[in-house]
Amino acid sequence: MKKIVHSAFVTHLECSETGEHHPKDTLLGLSKAGAPLIVRYDLDALGAAIDKETVAARPPDMWRYREFLPLGPDVEVISLGENTTPLVRVPTVEKRLGVAEVMIKDEGRLPTGSFKGRGMATAVSMAKAFGVKRIAIPTAGNAGAGLAAYASRAGIESFVFTPADTPEVTASEIAFHGAKAWRVDGLVGDCAKIVADGTEEMGWFDLTTLKEPYRVEGKKTMGLELAEQYSWTLPDVIFFPTGGGVCLIGMWKVFEELKQIGWIDGPLPKMVAVQSTGCGPIVEAFNAGARDVEPWGDVTTEIHGVRVPNPLGGKMVLEVLYESNGFGTAVDDDAVHETRARVCAEEGLHICPEGAACLVALEMEREAGRVGQQDRVAVFNTASGLKSPMPPMTRGLDKDQVVDYSTF
Ligand SMILES: *Cc1c(COP(=O)(O)O)cnc(C)c1O
Repeated sequence: MKKIVHSAFVTHLECSETGEHHPKDTLLGLSKAGAPLIVRYDLDALGAAIDKETVAARPPDMWRYREFLPLGPDVEVISLGENTTPLVRVPTVEKRLGVAEVMIKDEGRLPTGSFKGRGMATAVSMAKAFGVKRIAIPTAGNAGAGLAAYASRAGIESFVFTPADTPEVTASEIAFHGAKAWRVDGLVGDCAKIVADGTEEMGWFDLTTLKEPYRVEGKKTMGLELAEQYSWTLPDVIFFPTGGGVCLIGMWKVFEELKQIGWIDGPLPKMVAVQSTGCGPIVEAFNAGARDVEPWGDVTTEIHGVRVPNPLGGKMVLEVLYESNGFGTAVDDDAVHETRARVCAEEGLHICPEGAACLVALEMEREAGRVGQQDRVAVFNTASGLKSPMPPMTRGLDKDQVVDYSTF
């Protein structure tokens, strides 16, 4: 029996630059014009085939939204249990900032400890259905861990290239999941060049951010979940730590799809791209009112998830910010470390530096007035706090000495 790789609802792939249609039945990377490809659906047919009640009755994982994904019915889902992630309310933050409602969507609960698993589960399932045997990726860390895990599960060989200073846990995790992994003496762009240059000789499929069309589709499930968790009335503002920008692009894409099939209405949320003052090409372009992003020169931030000096999808991210009436905002590393420690201790919620960056941004924007007191705010914690270093715990006790409790 012939495999039906794509869902029947997929009509074609579309060039994000020229709009040119590309066929859906071959495995493609970039469009003929060298731009990202976008998966398009017959939304009338999709909307007629499924309703909210049907979705609500399914198991609580990302595959409950399968009609919105490119996988055809015969495609084997490569899954590690992509559970629905919780929305966690943070009352101390609400009180301190004077905001009515702040919910953290904790993506650290997913397999491999970050939201990257959503995109990887989707892209690797599609790659396997297309017969891919080898995949390569440049990564700040978490995408590599996701790829390594899902590729190993699919029986696909993976090659991962990550900057030398990637946190120890994530770098080790990549290799531990069975990838052939290298630390590269440079930034993620240098890693990307190694992948691109090796494609001909190594015959691997290049899974660089936005160089293939399916990771974005998988990340749409974040937006779908959010919409369902908010009872199909989205929050007023969404803060997202933005590196390559796939998440903002994916969420915005699915919000528009949901609007078109009539599952949500009203104004869509303002989308906020959070970056760093030490690497903020999207924020800089937004503040200049530009349509495209200039590469960032001197990268000084240690917030790995947003360290993407020249994002391929920069133009698409800017469009999302403009269309949603949102904005970009950049934060300092020191404030991020402070906020992460405070939230971990005060709320018991261990967020990653990228998630903490969003809370710093929220605080700044509340003060600046771009976020109002009555706004319902959703903040994405994109990875488990356990993947990033913590200050060491150094106090000890000698079991043979009398314990002086008065010093505690
Ligand atoms: C990848 C990553 C980001 C950035 O996501 P993009 O979709 O590339 O913008 C943010 N936080 C963490 C922890 C990440 O791993």
